[in-house]
Amino acid sequence: MLSCRNVTERASDVVDGTLPLLARLELGLHLMICEGCRTYIDQMRGLKTMLRRRPPVLSTAAAEAAVLAALRVSDQETPRR
Ligand SMILES: [Zn+2]
Repeated sequence: MLSCRNVTERASDVVDGTLPLLARLELGLHLMICEGCRTYIDQMRGLKTMLRRRPPVLSTAAAEAAVLAALRVSDQETPRR
């Protein structure tokens, strides 16, 4: 049987869904009997969802600079007369 410590250590994998089936079953059993861990996993899930909803790290300015740099390169490659 898993201890609460085991559960919190694997919480991130649980939320990401990267745990193997057996470990998931063990965890599910523990969560059925342990309200504390259930709450903990729920909070982790909420946190991950929030992080996913955040806009991408790349700022508009950085994206613009990347596009401009790409345009400049293609300009140089095209001979103009
Ligand atoms: Zn527990």
